[in-house]
Amino acid sequence: MNLNIVPLKFSNDPLLRKLTDKLSLYFDEIKIFYTPVNIEPAYNSARRQYHSTKILESVIKSNPGESGLYLILTELDLFVPVLTHVFGEAQLKGRFSIVSVCRLYEEFYTAESNPKLVLNRSFKEALHEIGHNLGLYHCRNWECIMHSSNNVEEIDTKGLFYCKECSDILKSSGIKHPAAT
Ligand SMILES: [Zn+2]
Ligand SMILES: [Zn+2]
Repeated sequence: MNLNIVPLKFSNDPLLRKLTDKLSLYFDEIKIFYTPVNIEPAYNSARRQYHSTKILESVIKSNPGESGLYLILTELDLFVPVLTHVFGEAQLKGRFSIVSVCRLYEEFYTAESNPKLVLNRSFKEALHEIGHNLGLYHCRNWECIMHSSNNVEEIDTKGLFYCKECSDILKSSGIKHPAAT
């Protein structure tokens, strides 16, 4: 299985590089894929945020022709109408997902920068959305990457892996090494 990472309004190259490294354990090949997308229709001026579903739709409509999954990475603050914010969104059993690092930066909450923490949070949220693409639903296990997180504390509580139950479901998905190592 291949993964195409699509940076969209994403300027943190060291984070992109390290995240690609960590995700490469799970995929045969990872490509960084740039596609021109008009994000303005996704902008909500009252909320000053971007509607994640609309960004996903724009990227899908741009009809990128690569094989495998697409993970859009952005620094834009994302929302869906019923929630104040989302860390990401994915098509269930589809090929497209999006993760925002906006609220994964420690600077969003405190004055301190912590690149390693941001990398781990980004990795967890990326694998979480990829899990939805591969057919996984939310998991009740608090340590599982498929546990749903409403805030960064809950992301930090999660481990870096799919739990046994979730990795068993992933065995036939084409992703590599889904089990904890
Ligand atoms: Zn989820
Ligand atoms: Zn699980």
